Amino acid sequence: MNDRKNKDLKTFEAMARIYCRAHHERTQQDDAGLCPDCRASVEATLARTQACPFGHTGNCQDCSIHCQRGEARERIRAIMRYAAPRMALRHPLMTGEYLRKKIAGRKRDHRG
Ligand SMILES: [Zn+2]
Repeated sequence: MNDRKNKDLKTFEAMARIYCRAHHERTQQDDAGLCPDCRASVEATLARTQACPFGHTGNCQDCSIHCQRGEARERIRAIMRYAAPRMALRHPLMTGEYLRKKIAGRKRDHRG
């Protein structure tokens, strides 16, 4: 696994984790905090971004090429829409303490 793929994976996992914890059964979630559906969405998205002609350096919603298609796209869009305002996407300190506080603080926020 190269560095960029690993970084993308961590980003997607972090976002999907926020969404999954708010929407899905905790009993189904793996070590990364993702249920099988969210895990599949992350893996599908990761595979797509590896083929992104822009190197996936921008936000997916700004990309003119649609990396995602079909059901996986709809799912990841829902995840992005929910999670994006809840984490600083480009923030280098997106993991650990920062995210935990975010999740704890915004858990009851359903405006997204
Ligand atoms: Zn889930």
